[in-house]
Amino acid sequence: MNNRMHQGHFARKRFGQNFLNDDNVIENIVAAIQPKKDQALVEIGPGLAALTVPISQLVDQLTVVEIDRDLAARLLNNPFLKHKINVIQEDAMMVDFTILAEQMKQPLRVFGNLPYNISTPLMFHLFQFTHAISDMHFMLQKEVVNRLVAAPNSKAYGRLSVMAQYYCQIIPILEVPPYAFKPAPKVDSAVVKLIPHADIPHKVKDVRMLSRITTEAFNQRRKTIRNSLGNLFNSEQLTALNLDLDARAENLTLQQYCQLADAYSLMSE
Ligand code: SAM
Repeated sequence: MNNRMHQGHFARKRFGQNFLNDDNVIENIVAAIQPKKDQALVEIGPGLAALTVPISQLVDQLTVVEIDRDLAARLLNNPFLKHKINVIQEDAMMVDFTILAEQMKQPLRVFGNLPYNISTPLMFHLFQFTHAISDMHFMLQKEVVNRLVAAPNSKAYGRLSVMAQYYCQIIPILEVPPYAFKPAPKVDSAVVKLIPHADIPHKVKDVRMLSRITTEAFNQRRKTIRNSLGNLFNSEQLTALNLDLDARAENLTLQQYCQLADAYSLMSE
């Protein structure tokens, strides 16, 4: 049998379709999410409804965002779901989650087994809406979860670590092997919980500066910050911030990136 065929649907590579096919893993994810009846759950990429059906049984209403038109149509025809779900047939990268939270009159609980080809940009998109989100549970490549939680001075520490930790507390939940999916991906996966900080611990004046500085630093992660941040700061300015000019991007803490961002905001005023 073709291993891309699952429940009569041919898995589309371009939409990162690897369907969950393991009851234990599904149960563990639902248990980690702990949905409550009147909460505003939003699933990204429901696919063939492996998580959608068990979650829908625990809540009054469920909103799903699915890019694949055929899958969206199947969800609307699913007898267990059709009276409970609101299907948004759209690219999740285009969804304004603030508007969704306003419509549902409460912060969102977002979850999904994310398409791995766009999981990082999708998380950056979601970070813009953390004020409207109470928590997120995602299945990701294990390597991406490692990057989300990475501390400074490690290979996995990068722009994603800094930006994710700026906005959220991050808790790895569960590791998932390739054979839990159909078709099986080539990599290990893991489920992670992200809880947006109620009060951002190192709040910057302008998050665009933090984004810009982390981009410059990590795009040239092997260079010293004297060089990689040379377009933005001179050596005196870096030294005045108590930074070691010979440090590299991976040696700076979140707090130090936030100090740099605020210093740059002040310089640009
Ligand atoms: N939730 C299902 C499961 O666990 O079996 C499917 C997971 S599959 C890894 C990813 C799902 O995301 C697919 O249904 C795919 O069509 C959908 N998807 C891919 N790109 C998307 C996007 N940009 N916006 C919304 N959904 C997307």
